[in-house]
Amino acid sequence: MKKLPLLFAGHGSPMNTIEDNSFSRAWAEIGQALPRPSAILVISAHWETNGVRVTATDKPETIHDFYGFPGELYEIEYPASGSPELAGNVQNLLKPDRIVADYDRGLDHGSWSVLCNMYKNADIPVVQLSLDRRQAPEFHYNLGKRLKILRDQGILIIGSGNIVHNLPMMIWRDRAYDWAVEFDKQVTHLIETGAHDKLIDYKQLPDSELAIPTNEHYLPLLYILGAKESDDPVQTYNDVLTMGSVSMRSFRFG
Ligand code: ZN
Repeated sequence: MKKLPLLFAGHGSPMNTIEDNSFSRAWAEIGQALPRPSAILVISAHWETNGVRVTATDKPETIHDFYGFPGELYEIEYPASGSPELAGNVQNLLKPDRIVADYDRGLDHGSWSVLCNMYKNADIPVVQLSLDRRQAPEFHYNLGKRLKILRDQGILIIGSGNIVHNLPMMIWRDRAYDWAVEFDKQVTHLIETGAHDKLIDYKQLPDSELAIPTNEHYLPLLYILGAKESDDPVQTYNDVLTMGSVSMRSFRFG
């Protein structure tokens, strides 16, 4: 079985699900370019919990977890099946930490806004792992390290968030604040040079309070970096900032 690359997807607005734009087209191309996974594990910015949970139902519902968007977006269904088997593997891999199997939770738009474009037919099972909001950044990085073996089992691990994500400062215009551009560049450089310790300790980076006022959109990146091998090639795409304070930059490793 072929070892699967890793993806960090800058997801941005849920509108990217239905708009034919450069982001949605890039996701579709990546879906075509990757070896076909047997299942997908997503760490999304939009599932924060106390303790770590994993979706364990075989039919996860499509959750429309946003407000004030066009009706069309609330009608989107992403009918991929779940994978109780992968959920069980994740629980085993992360022992002795206790990962709760969640039979109610479905897929949030951090998953399906990207997957609707990557795998339109929804014919690959999807499992989500939650972000434990009580934990420090290194915890999330270390979980990624412990999950990396899934890559050898045909599992595609996707972190879905945004490197720069400041909701209160967002503007509905296609331009970016200077600090956002600089922060995005800085993180990219640290990724390309393998400076993971600095990325884990992101609070020390200049302008981190502006770029990461809350860390749920940044943390999915740490899982992907944890699962990365030092010799995985790094590819970046959708390398633009939009809405003032959102970086759409995404990465493929491996
Ligand atoms: Zn989001």
